[in-house]
Amino acid sequence: METIRQQMIDLLSEEEMSAIEISQELRIAEKEVYTHLPHIARSVATQGKKLLIQPSRCLKCGYVFKERKRFTRPGHCPKCKATFIQRPAYRIS
Ligand SMILES: [Zn+2]
Repeated sequence: METIRQQMIDLLSEEEMSAIEISQELRIAEKEVYTHLPHIARSVATQGKKLLIQPSRCLKCGYVFKERKRFTRPGHCPKCKATFIQRPAYRIS
């Protein structure tokens, strides 16, 4: 468990990645990535770093989910109701 989180921290310190990219890199389920992210956010905070979220964006109308605090991808766009939502990406800085 700790190892996966450490690997995620290493990856996200190197480059910005979405949950699906992390899941492919570490060979874990995308769902599992989301369960680790809140722990990673807390653990990097103790090192004076931040887990930054590049917000999800609606691929149809361009709406950006700026206010979203959760790590998962939103189900649909509140503006145009489309379900083509780009995944958020994460980076540690
Ligand atoms: Zn939209």
